[in-house]
Amino acid sequence: MDYTVEEKEAFMREALKEAEIALEHDEIPIGCVIVKDGEIIGRGHNAREELQRAVMHAEIMAIENANLREESWRLLDCTLFVTIEPCVMCSGAIGLARIPKVVYGAKNQKFGAAGSLYDILTDERLNHRVDVETGILESDCASIMQEFFRNRRKK
Ligand SMILES: [Zn+2]
Repeated sequence: MDYTVEEKEAFMREALKEAEIALEHDEIPIGCVIVKDGEIIGRGHNAREELQRAVMHAEIMAIENANLREESWRLLDCTLFVTIEPCVMCSGAIGLARIPKVVYGAKNQKFGAAGSLYDILTDERLNHRVDVETGILESDCASIMQEFFRNRRKK
């Protein structure tokens, strides 16, 4: 399903709300929502500190959430919105869940695996390729991260 820019921004704002939850737990503020037919079916935020789980990134939580709700490991016809470019692990998980489209806000030059450091989502050697769009609410998604790291350095 294709969404208008306004709709994409609205979903990204929901992902940003998830990032705010991570921030409340004093962890790297990244948020994610998974949308199917215009409806949010999964939400997640980085919860490494909150849950003390190394793999609990925003995308993983949202995928688990959507899998449970759909009672299916396949998230076909879904769009995943995430505030920051997915890492290697999450890009792998997006492929495993067969999610066809990813929209992310800001790039992650250090860890990004959807165009920056690696390009796992569109690698032709893999059997599942994902349509990737970037730059939706980019400055909002980047600034919440910058603010977090600035505050952390001060501590
Ligand atoms: Zn990740």
